[in-house]
Amino acid sequence: MWFRRVVIAVGAIIFVEASHAGCGRSAVEADGGNPVFSISPAHSPEDDNGTDGTSADGTATGALFTRTLSILKPDAVAGGHVNAINARFERNGLHVVAQKRLRLTKEQAEKFYEIHRGKPYYESLCEYMSSGDVVVQVLAGVNAVSKNRELMGATNSATARPGTIRRDYGTDSQRNAVHGSDSDKTAEQEIALFFGELELMTGAHPVF
Ligand code: GDP
Ligand code: MG
Repeated sequence: MWFRRVVIAVGAIIFVEASHAGCGRSAVEADGGNPVFSISPAHSPEDDNGTDGTSADGTATGALFTRTLSILKPDAVAGGHVNAINARFERNGLHVVAQKRLRLTKEQAEKFYEIHRGKPYYESLCEYMSSGDVVVQVLAGVNAVSKNRELMGATNSATARPGTIRRDYGTDSQRNAVHGSDSDKTAEQEIALFFGELELMTGAHPVF
């Protein structure tokens, strides 16, 4: 009888160990209680849950590891919110893989926001973006563009959803703390405006 119990107990331990082995994704609790998923670079059918953007045969599943350009605008930088905003990105699986603090000239701001030329707010937007230091950064993570936009919140800080970066650190529809690219294509174009290839060597792959 005791022998049967020992065999069952050992069998259960082996089963539990085997179910954990080969699991490529681990969830850990970050400071704010948000789950952060670390994705192992080596892909195996066991971790075929779509979080690394590929299925077992390597085809895309809709969740891709991508990157986006983020700018912490003059109000966020002058307000001393750089570290708090970066911590929020990291906690939510967006990794700051390149970053620099700089002061845009009015001409550089005009070039960056060229697509908005002619809008009633274009002049004041470019004045504002060149009024103080900004922090430009590349964020990398699963579906980085949409994840960042979700964390940023709506354009107008006054009406953005509570808990978003813009609601917490911005003021209105212009002084809204952060910029984020709006598509993968514009992300790559915007990144190229500020960063060279050598500065982006860790940005294209899961590196953690
Ligand atoms: P975003 O993608 O959410 O940043 O919004 P847009 O691409 O439409 O606008 C670019 C930036 O222009 C915004 O982040 C704001 O800083 C500014 N902006 C947009 N709409 C307005 C507006 O109605 N008034 C003012 N003053 N600024 C605006
Ligand atoms: Mg935009």
